[in-house]
Amino acid sequence: MIIGGAMRSEKVWPLIGHLTYQIRDLRSKTYRKVTNVSEGAKTAKTIIIRQRSAKLRAAAIAYYKRLNGGKLLCSVTNWSAPNIPLKGEIIELHHLKALAGHPVKGTTMSMNEAIKMLRPVSPNIHRMLHSKPGGGSYSIKEFVALTANKKRARI
Ligand SMILES: [Zn+2]
Repeated sequence: MIIGGAMRSEKVWPLIGHLTYQIRDLRSKTYRKVTNVSEGAKTAKTIIIRQRSAKLRAAAIAYYKRLNGGKLLCSVTNWSAPNIPLKGEIIELHHLKALAGHPVKGTTMSMNEAIKMLRPVSPNIHRMLHSKPGGGSYSIKEFVALTANKKRARI
């Protein structure tokens, strides 16, 4: 794959530039020396997770669907999953208050309060909300201000 000098500019084509570098790396002597890698072996680990309420999840999905004529829309982009057979709900629920900020025993609140603390977001947006450099998450308002979604967002 040969890419002209002008197209190699990372300012203009950052993705193509990145791919070009990846291809160069794969051709390097370092990668040619490595002939085998192990991927996919089973292992076990113990993790502590925050409990999630299935009742809250179902109620929030129903609430946000009712607001939009039966469709669950991303609060940032208005995206909804395509109308094709899919296993489960693709839109995810984001906590406006990070779960890590709750006490160890969790927080008890009314269903209405709990639903108001959730927002439906697409998986890509959700990932980016939780990818704030330095840790923590972007608030939806912060994220919208940083992106071109100001006109579409429902915040
Ligand atoms: Zn989240």
